[in-house]
Amino acid sequence: MATYIVLLGMPGAGKGTQAAIISKDLGLPHITSGGMFRELAGQDTELARRVREIMRRGDLVPDDLTVQIVRERLERPDAAGGAILDGFPRTVPQAEALDALLAENGHSVTVVPFFKLSKEEALARLGGRWICSKDPNHMYHTRFNPPKVPGVCDIDGAPLYQREDDTPEAHKQRIEVYMERTAPLIEYYRDRGLLVEINAEQPIEAVTAELMAAIKERIVENGHSD
Ligand code: ADP
Ligand code: ADP
Repeated sequence: MATYIVLLGMPGAGKGTQAAIISKDLGLPHITSGGMFRELAGQDTELARRVREIMRRGDLVPDDLTVQIVRERLERPDAAGGAILDGFPRTVPQAEALDALLAENGHSVTVVPFFKLSKEEALARLGGRWICSKDPNHMYHTRFNPPKVPGVCDIDGAPLYQREDDTPEAHKQRIEVYMERTAPLIEYYRDRGLLVEINAEQPIEAVTAELMAAIKERIVENGHSD
């Protein structure tokens, strides 16, 4: 039985950080819709320009394009055993589309860890986020997780950068969009018995421990033993 883990929580909650860690432990690919859109936005096409503008403002890319991109990613062979979904779904129609596309193959969402933290903490995290220019999984924070040498990735020595949408205006908009469009997914997944609350206001290692315990418990309960 394939395992699909949906990480839910505000921008800045730590989903990407944790997904990179548990992806290795669980042997499941880390699928990030934001990362896929950043790749798309870097191309030189009209679609890329539109996506870039939406992201810069902190708005959501339309559901049909988002679902299409994730569907294609989930069909790749490395996701045959399931995936860790980070940043998708972000709207109720996206969640419904995910349920439908997994059902086509007799699969379903296994568990939805919900990263709980205050808006203030999320904003503080977004404000200090720096990312490795070589591997976006290498993520730092000026105060909470600083690199050994300022501006340089500890792992591969590449320069760090801040995302174009990590501006105070885009942060405000992204949190508003989250409250309006994504927060309803908390009830959506709670109603289906899939939601597990994770205290995301702990240090990174403590969040990982809580998250892994919740996931493993659910995998055992469901007989997702592979
Ligand atoms: P963060 O981790 O800070 O929340 P992401 O990297 O997940 O940011 O997403 C960056 C941007 O990519 C979003 O603000 C949005 O414009 C777009 N995006 C990512 N995932 C989705 C999605 N599932 N639906 C619509 N837009 C998305
Ligand atoms: P998301 O993917 O939910 O938007 P990220 O994983 O990108 O969140 O994390 C946002 C910022 O917060 C990054 O700079 C990251 O280094 C930092 N961060 C992540 N988890 C924690 C944590 N538990 N405590 C403090 N800072 C954290």
